Amino acid sequence: MAVPFRRTSKTAKRKRRTHFKLSVPGMVKCPSCGEMKLSHRVCPSCGSYNGKEVVSK
Ligand SMILES: [Zn+2]
Repeated sequence: MAVPFRRTSKTAKRKRRTHFKLSVPGMVKCPSCGEMKLSHRVCPSCGSYNGKEVVSK
């Protein structure tokens, strides 16, 4: 198995990790109840999607 020839320097490690960041989930306000919900998902608090109730509580 291949083994790294040199230890990765602190700078190289930090430069690589500049592309490694947490992404915020796409939260939008539900148009029917106003709660924050994930976009393209059924609203967990009122069960609506695209203006209609699709999941009963
Ligand atoms: Zn809702």
